Amino acid sequence: MPQRVISFHYKLTDKAGANIDSSEGRPAFSFLEGAGQIVPGLEKELVSLKKGDKKRVEVAAKDAYGQKDPSLVLTIPREQLPVKEIKVGDLFRGGQEEHSPVFKVVDLTLTNATLDGNHPLAGQDLVFEVELTDAREATAEELTHGHAHGPEGHHHH
Ligand code: ZN
Repeated sequence: MPQRVISFHYKLTDKAGANIDSSEGRPAFSFLEGAGQIVPGLEKELVSLKKGDKKRVEVAAKDAYGQKDPSLVLTIPREQLPVKEIKVGDLFRGGQEEHSPVFKVVDLTLTNATLDGNHPLAGQDLVFEVELTDAREATAEELTHGHAHGPEGHHHH
């Protein structure tokens, strides 16, 4: 089977129904099958849907953004941070690369800062309400790049 590009609209909530994210007001989200562009527990369900299908998909944390990794929570002296003025909730990228982990300041004392490098949704069970809007064969360019180029395959970068 050729790899496909699948497009879908979604509403993402936690198990209690609190809103986390949604594609409302935006184009449908497109991903390349098997490329790890979306969480595995959701991809597994989406690949079996047809255009127009709607489904409620519950994804356990381990099949979404994983459990929280305690080793990604670290306390360092405040003077090692790149800026002087910081507050709880600030975000720092832990390196120069686009995919370097982002650390969030979760606690501050006079001398130390505690940073959490886990994904903000790590440890959370998620509920997706999805509607599959399109599924088409991936273009050669998308296969080379390893990601989808939107519903019509237009190049975006
Ligand atoms: Zn590309």
